[in-house]
Amino acid sequence: MNTLMSDIKITKTKTTKIHDVDFDNLNFGRTFSDHMLVCDFKDGKWQSPEIVPYQAIVLDPSAKIFHYGQSVFEGLKAYKDTDDSVWLFRPLENFKRLNISAKRLAMPELPEEIFMDGLKALLKVDSEWIPKKEGSSLYIRPFIFASGNGFHASPADEYKFVIALAPSGAYFSGNVKVLIEETYSRSANGGVGFAKAGGNYAGQFYPTQLAVEKGYQQVIWTDDTNHEYIEEAGAMNIFIRINDTLITGPTSDRILDGITRKSIIDIAKAEGIPVEVRKITVTEVVNAAKDGSLKEMFGAGTAAVVSPISGFGYKGIDYDLPELKETYAAFIKKYITDIQTNKSEDPFGWRVKV
Ligand SMILES: *Cc1c(COP(=O)(O)O)cnc(C)c1O
Repeated sequence: MNTLMSDIKITKTKTTKIHDVDFDNLNFGRTFSDHMLVCDFKDGKWQSPEIVPYQAIVLDPSAKIFHYGQSVFEGLKAYKDTDDSVWLFRPLENFKRLNISAKRLAMPELPEEIFMDGLKALLKVDSEWIPKKEGSSLYIRPFIFASGNGFHASPADEYKFVIALAPSGAYFSGNVKVLIEETYSRSANGGVGFAKAGGNYAGQFYPTQLAVEKGYQQVIWTDDTNHEYIEEAGAMNIFIRINDTLITGPTSDRILDGITRKSIIDIAKAEGIPVEVRKITVTEVVNAAKDGSLKEMFGAGTAAVVSPISGFGYKGIDYDLPELKETYAAFIKKYITDIQTNKSEDPFGWRVKV
């Protein structure tokens, strides 16, 4: 054990909630484990992390998170295999991205030991909370926010890093019908779209509500200049299959560097699936839908891994995608979840034992 791990002060709960939880019928992100990790940034540095009973956080009304939205988060999962070993999937990528996000929001970057050792220690304390049922996992939500006070519009001088855990069931999004967005934008050049900044999601809710009112479940984000290029699917990256080629847009200020996305690109390359990382226009997708070469569209992200799209609306016309027996979406989802849950070899070295 290294120094930090043994340094983490642990205060256990006196009353576990675990017996109230129906692990066979878990929802997504609504049930929380017994403990959480908390670490404060003050006096110019990160203090010692602590594991405490899951509890409310008390803040001053002038805390800057409320006014200026300095808040960034991550999402990853822990999996338990049949031997009760616990695994994470590429957690260092989440750690690095948390700091990329924090930096963009003028927030202090977190040391790797606090994230990695803190997470592992928390998972050991709450290991009973990691579901074993097929498709279930423990959703992990690390986040940093401005807890420092004052109405002055400037970066806070105090922050909190928290990791909370939510045992979650299989995430079935169903077949999603999406609307290609022509008015609103999720992100812009020079903006914060590449960061997992809380405010990005607040800005997505209203356009998504409008799409839902029109009978769609999600919005396909397009570029902010002319709404000409396909960029992301809700809060997921997007893949489009034309004939046998899988296409996804290049990451940028506007397209978030998803860990699922880059894993899919590597898997496609290893499995001989032609994959192109390039800009893709709405026109190309509409034309492919018309001539039948559009085979699949799917979102890619940690929560659902892969979320198939059944059709899309654009300029008042609905286009249906074919119902294929064998899809890249299903192949890739199984490929990734088998690695995550230690059911298959891990040729890429993505799996990390806790
Ligand atoms: C989190 C997120 C993704 C997916 O990232 P993963 O690392 O694959 O979970 C994609 N797009 C946006 C906007 C996101 O916030």
